[in-house]
Amino acid sequence: MPDYPQILFKNRRPGETVFLDGFRQTGGYQGLEKAIRAMTPLEVRETVKRSGLRGRGGAGFSTGLKWSFFPADQPGDKYLVCNCDEMEPGTYKDRQLLMADPHQLVEGVILSAWALQVSEAYIFIRYAYEQEARNLERAIVEAKEAGYLGTDILDSGWSLQIHVHRSAGRYILGEETAQLNGIEGVRPNPRSKPPFPAVKGLWGRPTTVNNVETLADVPHIITGGAEWFKNLARNEIGAGTKLFGLSGHLERTECFELPVGIPLREVIFEVGGGIRGGGEFKACLPGGASTPYLTREHLDVAMDFDTLEAAGSRFGTAGVTAFDNDTCMVAVTLNLIRFFARESCGWCTPCRDGLSFVQWLLEEIEAGRGNMEQIEMLKHQRRNITGRSFCALAEGAMGPLDGLLRLFEDELEEHVRKGRCPF
Ligand code: NAD
Repeated sequence: MPDYPQILFKNRRPGETVFLDGFRQTGGYQGLEKAIRAMTPLEVRETVKRSGLRGRGGAGFSTGLKWSFFPADQPGDKYLVCNCDEMEPGTYKDRQLLMADPHQLVEGVILSAWALQVSEAYIFIRYAYEQEARNLERAIVEAKEAGYLGTDILDSGWSLQIHVHRSAGRYILGEETAQLNGIEGVRPNPRSKPPFPAVKGLWGRPTTVNNVETLADVPHIITGGAEWFKNLARNEIGAGTKLFGLSGHLERTECFELPVGIPLREVIFEVGGGIRGGGEFKACLPGGASTPYLTREHLDVAMDFDTLEAAGSRFGTAGVTAFDNDTCMVAVTLNLIRFFARESCGWCTPCRDGLSFVQWLLEEIEAGRGNMEQIEMLKHQRRNITGRSFCALAEGAMGPLDGLLRLFEDELEEHVRKGRCPF
């Protein structure tokens, strides 16, 4: 396998977690020191904007642009929330980061909080990530003792508190506005956007919500510079590296740090070692459960936000789940839709009723009881749900359904014609 630049994973060793000493030996907290001693908060925000960093939680929104909406210079309470409610099927990259090197996130949160001039930050962490939460709590204590966190950080006069908030354990809590409700301790329905959290977030105050990997990238951008970060990508439109979580029918199912813009073929065959047992590649989810499938014809696409969107899919979280030639794509889609239907919070009708209807239709077809009219009904549901749900949950569920209908309609028809699953 080629050697790829390791930025976020440079301290990763199997079965080990690096804490303060190890982190500082490899340049830890130098980004924070540089920012606080030699830059203004605005310069940090501008550098992040120039770096081309896009949100690593799945949506890929420009981090610099998001930060530019935030009223950093306004007095009053403001918050930074780190979204570590990683629950997208096929996505486990933030967990790897926190198991390997939790100070990276702590430094990222402190530096970003300084850039945004907030004095209170929350790390909202998935219920199942208990060891990762403990790693963070230890890193927070160490950072405080070393003067990087708490009162009068590095003699700047600026202070910050970080709270680790464990999720109650449902997928909807990863949706940023549901997450704000969760932190406030009320039922985590999503809130309507606009107003975006930058205007009205936690307790009605300006709030920025960023993913773990996004925040962990920030100190490296400050140390290395915007151009250096941008040039880490394999192509012109991408920026930086990305944590890819490989899963499914590959020889190597691990998390790898790879350049943004790397072709899918390289991810599947060089990094992932190809399909296990010498099988043939049929399709993959390129960025978690809510991204439309890619097939053999897409093997040369570059893995970056814009190229994948042009190819009819999305980069998402770069959680690549690969399927071999013996896989029934109707069954795969049904499995994913079951997850989304179960995790729907029930707040809006297209998601609550639409997803369970799609699940029923797929169950009928997969079991060999389906008819051609039901395939048309699936298309109708795709039109009915897309763009009509309150938050991105149902929209995400339409990703694999859309892929199935566009790329594997023949498999749906074969199920109906044969009156059974052909796989
Ligand atoms: P979104 O595109 O609505 O928003 C992305 C971010 O940009 C948000 O923080 C939002 O506040 C901000 N934003 C967007 N437009 C803005 C504007 N005009 N003004 C100010 N801020 C603006 O997407 P989303 O609902 O936050 O996320 C959906 C994505 O989450 C899905 O695409 C999926 O890939 C991903 N996801 C990830 C996980 C995970 O475990 N990591 C789980 C579920 C979903």
